Amino acid sequence: MKFVAQINEYYIPTLEIDNGKLVKNPEVPERLEEVIKLMENKYDKIPTKKFPLNFLYSIHPKWYVNHIKKLSEKALNNELLPEVFLKDRIFDSGTPITNKTFNAAIDAYNATLTGANELLNSKEYVYVITRPPGHHADIDMAGGYCFFNNAAIAAIFIKSIINERICILDLDFHHGNGTQSIFYENPEIIYISIHGTPEMYFPWISGFQDETGAGKGLGTNFNFPLKGNSYWNDYNIAFEKALDIIHKFLPSVLIVSLGFDTHTKDPMGYFNLFGEDFKPMGNEIKNLKIPTLFIQEGGYNKEANYEAAFNFFNNF
Ligand SMILES: [Zn+2]
Repeated sequence: MKFVAQINEYYIPTLEIDNGKLVKNPEVPERLEEVIKLMENKYDKIPTKKFPLNFLYSIHPKWYVNHIKKLSEKALNNELLPEVFLKDRIFDSGTPITNKTFNAAIDAYNATLTGANELLNSKEYVYVITRPPGHHADIDMAGGYCFFNNAAIAAIFIKSIINERICILDLDFHHGNGTQSIFYENPEIIYISIHGTPEMYFPWISGFQDETGAGKGLGTNFNFPLKGNSYWNDYNIAFEKALDIIHKFLPSVLIVSLGFDTHTKDPMGYFNLFGEDFKPMGNEIKNLKIPTLFIQEGGYNKEANYEAAFNFFNNF
């Protein structure tokens, strides 16, 4: 296994509005520092390379990319919180823009493609530790701390080279509304997500079980919404079903949207998974014997993230 580490220490959002109150934004570089140290002790680190922007534009239209750039420039030394969601193209009040947002999102794009490129060369396991995360970003709408959809960009990049079926398994506590939406009608990129039920939790707007895809993609989108406070016993039932789906579709590449906010100590997620529970998760994914790209999504408690990563990658 190899890894890419690009957490963009220069990008530190401080604000968000949660339940009508201004609170501290948890999407900061510190959350991943211990995970990087752990990986540095065990695996080879690949330096981030630069890629042309055409793969970014294959998911996000140019006007949207330029819009995020302009918002970043406008932020100067302040942080912009969206006021008119449809005009600002940000769907929630938890996603401020700073003058570093655009650069950080581009650096995460390059880190993601560095990992995807390495996966195609090694056909093994690659872990991209980066931020801002991506799975809440739709083609032309930011949200949930996400601006460009890293997992979707990786999928399109890999697909452009191998043209074979890809599965995306989203293990973040929150439903990846952006990734689902991007591939909802695409039968070749299968999306599977296990998450806190949107009846109770962010992103509220999607992640229900009856969202199964549309058009040619009908039957290639799978949601496993779980109740808050779920323990491993309940989680594992959904996890086994997700693995069965992967077995059925036999993808050439697996992309895992890896959020550690399912850990019981996470401040943003509401499951009761403990460090040890991440061990069988990692083991079973390894047992699939499919080249796998892990891309960091959430996880906001740095000790919990370390514990989850330590156990998850125990056997890699
Ligand atoms: Zn999350």
